[in-house]
Amino acid sequence: MSSAQFDLHLPAPPVTGDIPLVPARMVNEFVYCPRLAYLMWAQSEWAETGDTVEGRRVHTRVDRSNPPLPAPEDVEAKPDKIVSRALALSSERLGVIAKIDIAEAEDGMVTPVDYKRGRRPHVARGAYEPERVQVCLQALLLEEHGYRVDEGALWYVESRERVRVVLDEELRRATQEAVSRLRLTVANGRIPPPLRDSPKCPRCALVSICLPDEMNALGGSDLAPRPIAVPADEALPLVVQSQRARVSKEGDTLKIADEEQGDTTVRLIEVSDVALFGNVAITSPALTALMEREIPVTFHSHGGWFRGMAHGLGNRNAEVRTAQYRVSFDDGACLRFARDLVSAKIFNQRTILRRNWRGDRDTRKETLDRLGAARRSASRTSVLAELRGIEGDAAAVYFRAFARLLTPPETDSSNDGVGLSPFRFETRNRRPPTDPVNAMLSLAYAMLARHLTVTLASVGLDPYRGLFHAPRHGRPALALDLMEPFRPIIADSVVLAAVNTGEVSASDFVSGATGTALTPAGRRRFVSAFERRLSQETTHPLFGYRLSMRRLLTVQARLLSRHLLGELPTCPHY
Ligand code: SF4
Repeated sequence: MSSAQFDLHLPAPPVTGDIPLVPARMVNEFVYCPRLAYLMWAQSEWAETGDTVEGRRVHTRVDRSNPPLPAPEDVEAKPDKIVSRALALSSERLGVIAKIDIAEAEDGMVTPVDYKRGRRPHVARGAYEPERVQVCLQALLLEEHGYRVDEGALWYVESRERVRVVLDEELRRATQEAVSRLRLTVANGRIPPPLRDSPKCPRCALVSICLPDEMNALGGSDLAPRPIAVPADEALPLVVQSQRARVSKEGDTLKIADEEQGDTTVRLIEVSDVALFGNVAITSPALTALMEREIPVTFHSHGGWFRGMAHGLGNRNAEVRTAQYRVSFDDGACLRFARDLVSAKIFNQRTILRRNWRGDRDTRKETLDRLGAARRSASRTSVLAELRGIEGDAAAVYFRAFARLLTPPETDSSNDGVGLSPFRFETRNRRPPTDPVNAMLSLAYAMLARHLTVTLASVGLDPYRGLFHAPRHGRPALALDLMEPFRPIIADSVVLAAVNTGEVSASDFVSGATGTALTPAGRRRFVSAFERRLSQETTHPLFGYRLSMRRLLTVQARLLSRHLLGELPTCPHY
């Protein structure tokens, strides 16, 4: 965005029609960081942190109902001090609404008092500007409603100190200007740029949504991104595969009653999402608790086929979905996106072959050269159908060479010493897979699609509307798009590791007229190998910091949303 947007000093016009009033706390956020206010107000983004929970707890204490503030003409007549809590006021002229923690009326004057968690800061005017602006705005609202206001105050809960806020002309002007700028920025529909190398970002609740350093790096900054947007994975998926298992809620935990594995309990705060395979029951209280916490539940067939998902109210960022639909109808934008996507996928296929090749050098060179040529063709083509053809040809080359990467331990007694034979692989097949390697590839792709469907929905995107894969009933097309470059380095790599380390053996598969599938024990081991792969750390090729594959997929989904919203000219694929 141009810096000119922030040079506008025209007051925003009074609010009319159904334009919502801006909450005073958003003006506080805007003064702290314009992008933060935009993310929270225009895009309804939110992330809970310890600080936000504590802030809410502080305000819950002052949100108790009590007698209202007397009318302005009666305030003067009251002999005693009156304390009114959680006073809601609004003004269409200012375009603002506020809930004043405490309004104290005494000697004909009213003083707004805002509660803040933490300790009083030792700064020049006794408090930071965003907080002073928020109190000033509350004072302006009180004045608009006919009250006389001489000063405001901030109460710091932890240090139990009160700081006076002087309502001088400078603060009043800055406050009105902040309101106007926020309203004009939102009306403009353009998100302000992230702060540069700011100490505010590591403390910001929305840092992993905003990606300030990553966005600046992609915009040309030569400062290396700090790994502030990639906190350690605190919660992990809960995958329940035992048939006839039952998931129920017990206090703040989920209990899994399991005849095969014995009963287990998991704390809800440790669960990022729940995957139920086959005949697994979940109780209504458990489902409700998960929905309330926005923890999605995915349902799968016994063999891992992704059947659907239940989640709470979901991400409320309608702006990003609107942008996604708009781009999805733009053929040129879809082609550019798909070209980069296919090119990244072929690049990663080459990487897997290079790292794991066990065959002769000439065939290796020839295979890598063919994939290199396919990648160049993919990045040049201007026809989507041709791109699909290039992708298909590259996949055929890749999977023809895939058998050369499979080296199960010869000591594997379960395959009767015939070496590779249980894991003989000729070509990719599915619906149903006819051999163990294809059975594992199908399950790994289904797991990856499941993970990305959940991730895309959590960042506000519609997993069912793709840019490369055509929408088909029940097909998570955008998840299939985003997973293309990750098929080789996550799914295929899990299959290779499972075979080559002997984690799965021939006895882990059953074959019949309907194809080949993993046994329950084999599937359990394979799914846990897949989740381990997602937890493995890698170095981000663009940002240079270490992060888990799981977090990498989330960052990728966020970058895609920033691209769709027009903040990034291209989507940087992994
Ligand atoms: S992370 Fe930094 S730039 Fe982004 S919203 Fe927060 S304070 Fe603003």
